[in-house]
Amino acid sequence: MIPFFDLAGMTSEVRQQVTSRWDGLLDTGQFIGGVAVQAFEEEWAAFCGARFAVGVANGTDALHLTLRSMGIGTGDDVVVPANTFVATVEAVVLAGANPRFADVDPDTLLMTGQTLKAAATRSTRAVIVVHLFGQMADMSEISEAASGLGIEIIEDAAQAQGATWRSARAGSIGRAGCFSFYPGKNLGAFGDAGAVVTSDPGIAERLVSLRDHGRVLGGHYEHGGIGTNSRLDAMQAVVLSAKLPRLQAWNASRRALVGRYRELLDADVVRMVDEIEGAVGVFHLAVVRVRRRDEVRAELARRGISTGIHYPTPCHLVGAYAGYATTPLPVAEAAAGEILSLPLYPHLRADQVDEVCRELNKVAREKAQA
Ligand SMILES: *Cc1c(COP(=O)(O)O)cnc(C)c1O
Repeated sequence: MIPFFDLAGMTSEVRQQVTSRWDGLLDTGQFIGGVAVQAFEEEWAAFCGARFAVGVANGTDALHLTLRSMGIGTGDDVVVPANTFVATVEAVVLAGANPRFADVDPDTLLMTGQTLKAAATRSTRAVIVVHLFGQMADMSEISEAASGLGIEIIEDAAQAQGATWRSARAGSIGRAGCFSFYPGKNLGAFGDAGAVVTSDPGIAERLVSLRDHGRVLGGHYEHGGIGTNSRLDAMQAVVLSAKLPRLQAWNASRRALVGRYRELLDADVVRMVDEIEGAVGVFHLAVVRVRRRDEVRAELARRGISTGIHYPTPCHLVGAYAGYATTPLPVAEAAAGEILSLPLYPHLRADQVDEVCRELNKVAREKAQA
């Protein structure tokens, strides 16, 4: 059996450090906020190359509260790629704004400057660019298009912790960068967690208030606005601080394994998502395209190889959001029937990659010829 994903290797690297720090935390009783959260926020801002990091409860809140911190809501449009996890779109609707769906590039499955421009309207205030699968979109193109349209850039970097675009880290290019630390992300907590990075002090300040019931700084029962409860807790901050020094090595391991996939897969029948020049990805997922994907996937499962699909339905066709769709998005729609995510995590072994490639090459060739 080769699992699609396995957290055990990462967990065991930090287990002792985390449990001993948790033990100390139990003595202080400081479970929400406090030094552990502050320390991680400083470490994460420094890692991303931004002035501030604001910890929140999860990645969806990171996006939703970022929109609110920028005053984006009712009557505003926000462009999102059709091919993303539904939370990107959900956050726009939670903020009271309308999502406008952009198509993606057929080779990278990421939004481009052109697809952004095609989706934008006169009411568009921002774009949420998603660095899907761990690779940053072409931020030169996106920035140029966004500044031409006069709109803000928010980065959904939930899958791209540590990825770079021309040596700038994910999250540091837009007005704000949003992260999820869901356990399965490249940097994952032992529960839900998230953060926003920004170099804009006004946004950072508003986020600090929004995540904590709209509190005025320093006033426990003074509420300057309507916020929510979306705080990062100290137990998770400790886990993230323990894992962060290992993130680069884990990302390097993912990159090496994907290099091996690229080398061994039969490009005639299994097409890997392209890398963009200028982008160094961290491969949250190893995504390929195959014909007759569902049959290929079922056959791999019979041979003991688990795979995933990210995502089976483009967001503009997902029931809850279909009402916001305005046009067909042919690239995202075609890709949805062909994409397949292969086993990938830092502690996956090279011989396991070899086995996946051997089986997938055989199965994909059979299905392509049938
Ligand atoms: C995981 C993810 C989110 C949401 O994060 P949660 O912490 O689960 O709320 C948002 N966008 C993308 C691209 C994601 O992969």
